Amino acid sequence: MLGRLAVDGTPKQREAAVRALATSAAIRSQRAVMGRLNRQLNLNIGQMVGFAVTPQRRLTIYDNKTNGRTFLPGVRARDWGQPPVEDAAVNQAYDGSSATYEFYRDVYKRNSLDGVGLELVSSVHYGVGFDNAFWDGSQMVYGDGSGRIFQIGGLTRSLDVIAHELTHGITELTAGLVYSKQSGALNESFSDVFGSLVKQYSLKQSAAEADWMIGEGILVPALGAALRSMMNPGTAYSGDRQPGHMDDYVDLPDNNDPRNDNGGVHINSGIPNHAFALAATALGGKSWEKAGKIWYKVLTTRLRPNSQFDEAAQATVDVAGSLFSSTEQDIVHNAWKEVGVRT
Ligand SMILES: [Zn+2]
Repeated sequence: MLGRLAVDGTPKQREAAVRALATSAAIRSQRAVMGRLNRQLNLNIGQMVGFAVTPQRRLTIYDNKTNGRTFLPGVRARDWGQPPVEDAAVNQAYDGSSATYEFYRDVYKRNSLDGVGLELVSSVHYGVGFDNAFWDGSQMVYGDGSGRIFQIGGLTRSLDVIAHELTHGITELTAGLVYSKQSGALNESFSDVFGSLVKQYSLKQSAAEADWMIGEGILVPALGAALRSMMNPGTAYSGDRQPGHMDDYVDLPDNNDPRNDNGGVHINSGIPNHAFALAATALGGKSWEKAGKIWYKVLTTRLRPNSQFDEAAQATVDVAGSLFSSTEQDIVHNAWKEVGVRT
């Protein structure tokens, strides 16, 4: 959506969107390198049999004090185990990271992003009125929002946004999906899937009760209700270009023009998002118990950096059969069929 606002927004929105996009682009190249390094490091740790990592701290929150990139992470604002402080953004980042950690531990038996207790580091108050939140390859970073695109303080208020960004860390350390075109749209979609699941888990919602929205209530009201709708892609905000079916796939080049969104990674993620929401709803019950379990296993054990939609779809069908039965397998197959992806 930032890409669109950089072109069509009001002058103030354009300025804020361009600033956020420029920073994100610089971070992106750094993130790819960090991801590769982390994967290699993780592999080496795994090879050391009996090497038990006991984290001193599960998470730490820093205050960037609006200084930006050269001052990351910033000043330590709340340590693991410390009581709430006065700053709401610090406490929200703390609670959101903690809820995401507990979700992965309790539901999928995963100890943090790398599986061996990696400390979750977050910095809040990044830059001045910065309109984005991102995973930089080693930590979470949250801007305050300018009040022209994101509501001031909105980005840390949203548990699914926090879980979305942290899930990028898991993806980098497992499937390593390349952040471009279809593999990038899958990368984005897995972050939305688990972002939504962490929210549903915290609210104890069933698939039928979930709103399937990402970042609900964090945009300024004039722009729309949420960043993305998984059940009804393309309806979250005015100008939302997400397709929910392969017939409407948006084929964009990955040419470093921020308006093209790395070949539509935040646009075409609507298609796998829609497949997940349909599968989870048809499977019934709590989304993290069946659909989430299938998608988690696929992300962490079946995909490669260049996996495309059809390969991911086939993997979910296969895993549905191995974890459950042919009934679940048929449901997952039909969900992908409904969005035009063949399995
Ligand atoms: Zn993302």
